[in-house]
Amino acid sequence: MAAQPSRIVAIYPGSFDPITSGHLDLIERGSKLADRLIVAVLENRRKQSLFSVEERVEMLTEVVKPFPNVEVGWFHGLLVDYVKSRGANFILRGIRAISDYEYELQIAHMNRRLSPGVETVFLMAGEAYSFVSSQLVKEVVSLGGDVSGLVPPLVEERLKRLMAAPR
Ligand code: ADP
Repeated sequence: MAAQPSRIVAIYPGSFDPITSGHLDLIERGSKLADRLIVAVLENRRKQSLFSVEERVEMLTEVVKPFPNVEVGWFHGLLVDYVKSRGANFILRGIRAISDYEYELQIAHMNRRLSPGVETVFLMAGEAYSFVSSQLVKEVVSLGGDVSGLVPPLVEERLKRLMAAPR
């Protein structure tokens, strides 16, 4: 009997506060490499966020609809525990610049030490989005700048609404 090819189940973890077009580009490209891609929002109580985990999951769920093998989840605690709980074998992360590389290298080594069977795979940011971060997008919107094209339209709408009526 022919051996079953092993399935690639990847987790793409992050804050996604909010999701940007850079994240979405990575999701689209990652979805072509994996059989299943799970985009996972990290609930980090130590980090102040603009959107709640529920809101981030809701926005992500909407924007990943075009990709049938992509789903959305959330987790707290150790990423490697979440990876195991979802039966995944890969972690997907993006690299925009050298500054990302240094941070990502450290985290990838730690995750491999914690869970030797799980590999972290990196994709280079799309050229058009290598300067885009959730943080910068929030700053620009808060100062009245235009971020169209840098975030999905529904996120732009949510950001504008939030800036018009801050909570
Ligand atoms: P975290 O707080 O975990 O860094 P982010 O939501 O900022 O969460 O990023 C999640 C992942 O997506 C990270 O690997 C980050 O490097 C990557 N990423 C963020 N912005 C972009 C972008 N514009 N293009 C490609 N990858 C990106």
